[in-house]
Amino acid sequence: PVLRVAIMGLGGYGTRVADAMKTCQKAKLVGAISGTPEKLTRWQEKYGIPAENCYNYQTFDQIKNNKNIDVVYITTPNALHHDQVIRVAAAGKHVICEKPMALNAKEGQEMVDACKKAGVKLLVGYRMHFEPQTLEVIRLRKEGAFGKILFFQGQCGFTIGDPTQWRLNRELAGGGSLMDIGIYAINGARYMVGEEPIWVTAQETKTDPVKFKEGVDETIQFQLGFPSGAVASALSTYKMNNLDRFFVNGEKGFAEMQPSTGYGPIKGRTHLGELKAPHVTHQTRQMEEMAGIILEGKEPVVAVNGEEGVKDLKIIDAIYKAVKTGKKVPLNLI
Ligand code: NAD
Repeated sequence: PVLRVAIMGLGGYGTRVADAMKTCQKAKLVGAISGTPEKLTRWQEKYGIPAENCYNYQTFDQIKNNKNIDVVYITTPNALHHDQVIRVAAAGKHVICEKPMALNAKEGQEMVDACKKAGVKLLVGYRMHFEPQTLEVIRLRKEGAFGKILFFQGQCGFTIGDPTQWRLNRELAGGGSLMDIGIYAINGARYMVGEEPIWVTAQETKTDPVKFKEGVDETIQFQLGFPSGAVASALSTYKMNNLDRFFVNGEKGFAEMQPSTGYGPIKGRTHLGELKAPHVTHQTRQMEEMAGIILEGKEPVVAVNGEEGVKDLKIIDAIYKAVKTGKKVPLNLI
């Protein structure tokens, strides 16, 4: 069977996913949801999507009556994910939602509950969970090649352009760099260390309060503590380029990756040598694997379900709280 996918939000990332799906064997783009009629016409031509599989934001609840669509992949701005996921679930379709899954853990949990109630699967677009170099480092960690893990460092950032974009609008983005790019260091700390953090400390730096308004973070540094005693240190920023680096250190060895989460080839090495897993188009691999999860009940190496998304949001909530209070914030993710 082939997973029949409709994409909601035909912007930059939606287009990237659509293009990547052209070479999928197990997933196929068959539908589109957009508020712009011209975009729907263009997508029908470009991707061979039938008109009856196209919807707008007023009509998409009718997808309930469409037997030719299995899942809706939501690639709209962050603040819209919560209501859209709940509406898709109510229409009885599985959902793939982009990261960050929602603006906070409370919203995320409501989405998980709605999907559970509707009996549909909810997956979050964590493409690194299927990336071969990443999986190789996780495999080495699990087999004990690094020994006891002591430290993780994650540096995630880029210089953001256009000040009018939704990513710099608190209502649509729910925050700033942390929601968008810092989440990779949060998620990465968890899958690299292999534990759930029990406390957070965090500090914010803002050099441009005009571009980065109240509630939109420019740069945040945060630290996580794990039950084993391992610690993580991370930087999330919209103010620096060439910042895409993971480092994990254990008693017996280490791994360093740069780039660690960008779209291009992920590169890196461990104390044993260079990482040599094949390079893949992340979104193609992700959709192949997600087809297996949704249609065949396959279990990924690193979870990509709604609960996984909520854990990252609990950490994000705690980081913002730590920034605000200047205090260490305890976490309970289990
Ligand atoms: P984008 O601005 O390029 O696209 C967003 C789309 O949503 C646009 O087509 C826009 O028209 C549409 N939209 C619908 N309702 C809207 C509204 N009320 N206001 C503004 N736009 C509206 O953004 P993007 O880069 O494609 O990001 C979309 C989502 O995908 C975000 O949640 C982002 O975090 C995520 N994303 C994930 C990755 C990844 O690697 N996993 C990469 C990029 C973006």
